[in-house]
Amino acid sequence: MATQKKAAPKAAPKVKASAESIRVVPLFNPKMDIKLEDLSAKKEDSELLTMAPPTATPKLVYNRGPLIKNTKVYTIFWGKNWASTAAFITLRNNINQFFTAILTSSLIDQLAEYSVPGAAIGHGSLSGSKVITKAAPKMQINDSLIRTTLSGWITAGIVPPWDANTLYFIYMDKGVKVTMGGSSSCTSFCGYHDAISGKKYYAVMPFPSCSGCLGGMNVMDAITGTSSHELCEAITDPVPPTGWYDNAHGEIGDICAWKFKSVAGYNVQLEWSNKAKQCV
Ligand SMILES: [Zn+2]
Repeated sequence: MATQKKAAPKAAPKVKASAESIRVVPLFNPKMDIKLEDLSAKKEDSELLTMAPPTATPKLVYNRGPLIKNTKVYTIFWGKNWASTAAFITLRNNINQFFTAILTSSLIDQLAEYSVPGAAIGHGSLSGSKVITKAAPKMQINDSLIRTTLSGWITAGIVPPWDANTLYFIYMDKGVKVTMGGSSSCTSFCGYHDAISGKKYYAVMPFPSCSGCLGGMNVMDAITGTSSHELCEAITDPVPPTGWYDNAHGEIGDICAWKFKSVAGYNVQLEWSNKAKQCV
C-alpha cells in the first residue's frame, strides 16, 4: 500500500496503529475495540477513552500527487443478494441515485478549495454500475484479493477501463467480512479507499451490519455517510497520502468522521475545510 508508516497520532482515536487505518472510516464507537493492553501501553488513556479532540488544529497539506478532477464513479455490487434479493436491489438503485445526485451537489463544490493548478476539482457523474456474482466471497475476503479481482475485471472488460477520473466503488454483500492490513470491517473500519500501483482508484464498502458501522442510523443513511467519506477522500487524495493529507489526522474525511449533514436529501459526512478551519 502506498501509505507510509506514520507515528501514531497523539490523541486520535485510532485503535490499531496500522499504517492503513488512517484512511478508513473508523467505527462509530472506537472504545469497543480498545484492548486492555493498548490502554496500559498508552500514556493518553484518558484521551482515548473520552475521544478528546486533537489539540493541534488540523491542516491538510498537498503532497503533489494526483487529484480526481471530474469523478466518474462506477459502482460494483459484488454478491448474490445484490442480484436477487428485492431489498438489496432497491438499495442498489438508491445508492446509484445517491451518486448521481451527490456528484453534482454542494458536497463536491466545497472541495474546490483543494483544486491545484492543472487539477480543478469539479462535478462528476455516475458512469455506470454492475452486479457481479461470479466468485463473490461468502464469508471473508482480504484487500489484496479484492485488488487482484478488480484488476482482473478491468483486464477482462467486465468493468470499464480505468482512467484518471475513474473511481470504482465496490459494495460487498451482507455478511462478508473484509480484512486489510491486520484489521477488519465491523471490528476496526467501515470502509476504505486506495489505488493500485498509483492508478485504478477504488473504494471498498463492506455491508454495514454492525452497530459500529451503522452508528444508530438506517442502512441507507449509514451507506451514504460512509460512501461520502470515501468519495471526498478519494477525490482529494486518490493515492494516499500523496494528495491532501494531514500527517497527524489523516485525510479530509477522517478529521470529521461520524459528523453528518443532509445534501440533496442524502445523509453525507462533514469534510474538513482548511479555509474555514472546521468541518463543513
Ligand atoms: Zn477516511
